[in-house]
Amino acid sequence: MNEGLLLIISGPSGSGKGTVVKKLIPSDDFALSISMTTRAPRVGEVDGVDYIFCTESEFAEIREGNGFLEHATFSGNFYGTPVSYVKEQIAGGKTVVLEIEVVGALQVKEKYPDAVLIFLMPPTFDELRSRLLERGTESDDEIERRTRRARDEMEELQKYDYLVINDDIDEALDDIRKIVRAEKLKPWRSSCRIQHFYGNNETNCI
Ligand code: 5GP
Repeated sequence: MNEGLLLIISGPSGSGKGTVVKKLIPSDDFALSISMTTRAPRVGEVDGVDYIFCTESEFAEIREGNGFLEHATFSGNFYGTPVSYVKEQIAGGKTVVLEIEVVGALQVKEKYPDAVLIFLMPPTFDELRSRLLERGTESDDEIERRTRRARDEMEELQKYDYLVINDDIDEALDDIRKIVRAEKLKPWRSSCRIQHFYGNNETNCI
């Protein structure tokens, strides 16, 4: 019996996903899935915290062993969500957050239609570009590639369940928390609470 939720947050580079997720996670209800990637670590990124950094052959081995819930390429690098952690946390009733790009998000939605997909967007395209420039972690070429990819990702946003505009971070966080709350109150996600109503106290409702 579980009331866990798979929550996917996507959005173009510069949408502020990383910041939003970092503020959302310090909570007993949420668990963050740490992805594997073949991308080189950025300054300040820590292996096992920001990502599990790996070689292409390590990535291929896990992919071939069906160890990923989903995987995709982004700007020439591989990214994937290790499946074991997600399953474990969902079984424990957590809201598991995946901060992933659009191709992987849609793979998950296909396999698990119960997953909730949120698309996070900055208020304007100009704002997205200037956030990427200000962040200063990417070369000019990489910024160009990422803004092009942002346009492609925007084409898919109608396939998402919710669109959240990240103009003010606290408002965006508030929107996301309300989405999670509302999703958890859907009757078909509430089997645990319904069992509890009938006196089955063995269930551990979240
Ligand atoms: P970055 O290189 O900026 O850390 O990430 C590039 C893109 O890959 C971002 O859109 C990020 O959300 C996405 N990403 C990170 N981890 C995963 C993953 O496990 N799977 C997929 N499909 N995308 C990921």
